[in-house]
Amino acid sequence: MPDDAATPTLRRATLEGYSWDDVEPRRYREEPGALFEGVTRQVLFSDPGLQGELRYFEVSSGGYSSLERHAHMHAVLVLRGAGRCLVGEAVYAIGPHDLITVPPWTWHQFRAAADQKLGFLCLVDAERDKPAAPSAAEREALMRLPAVREFLAGR
Ligand code: MN
Repeated sequence: MPDDAATPTLRRATLEGYSWDDVEPRRYREEPGALFEGVTRQVLFSDPGLQGELRYFEVSSGGYSSLERHAHMHAVLVLRGAGRCLVGEAVYAIGPHDLITVPPWTWHQFRAAADQKLGFLCLVDAERDKPAAPSAAEREALMRLPAVREFLAGR
């Protein structure tokens, strides 16, 4: 066995609540002024030996993540519930076991259905840039697209 072999981490799941031993739900975003509603974040894997992190996000019914973009990518796997996501200029209905990637510098937002929560795993680079919110002009440009306007209005 190599000298640097470490002890594995096993955190048992309590799947009914989509929670794991010793994993605390955190505020979704720490920045003041970030615009979102009803989102929790659990960091499942974050280790100096890994270049990625795996998080579990849960959006309560009617809630939404912040509208943002950044240089790093996301790879998302839906675990439970139902909702929609905006990626770029397209809106997709998503449900359990659907996979979607968010390319670099692409506007994105996740919204739970009005009557269901939306829970998903999100894989990201461990070292990554901070998300940017749209400027007034960028938001205006997005709102010119009918599908995006409806989505952002929660319809
Ligand atoms: Mn993001």
